Amino acid sequence: MESYIYIDGWKEKIRFSSAHVIPEYEKCGRLHGHTYAVHVKLYGEPDDKGIIIDFSIIKENLKDIIKKIDHKIILPKKSKFAKIKIEKNSINMNTLGKNYIFPKEDCILLPIDSTSAEKLSCYILDNFIRKIKNYKNIVKIELGIDEGFGQGARVSIVMRN
Ligand SMILES: [Zn+2]
Repeated sequence: MESYIYIDGWKEKIRFSSAHVIPEYEKCGRLHGHTYAVHVKLYGEPDDKGIIIDFSIIKENLKDIIKKIDHKIILPKKSKFAKIKIEKNSINMNTLGKNYIFPKEDCILLPIDSTSAEKLSCYILDNFIRKIKNYKNIVKIELGIDEGFGQGARVSIVMRN
């Protein structure tokens, strides 16, 4: 029998609001923002107490990851379409022939090539795996973010413990 537990980020307030630019798409190539919600499903074997992992552990770890990007301008360090230059107090991003200058403290640079919902989901999942790697009974994780209500991306990984 397969079991999983899940967290709905909208209902459990695992949410963040951030701004980004996606130069690969014309409409998204202008600075704009979203409220995101993080959802997760964890598949695994219930332990001798009958649970896979405590809900509160999942929520605390997800909140810990997203608090770093909440109310920030998210910039993709590895973008092929945006040139990002870090100055002393500011970050300069050149893309689509436009030049943005942001205060450094308002930004978070992530090790991803795009700030799409898909790539942000991968970033959050990578960080989440590191936090729960000691739970050897978890066999698969599906994680994703909604970019506003009704649309989002999901990524999944099979754990090889
Ligand atoms: Zn967007």
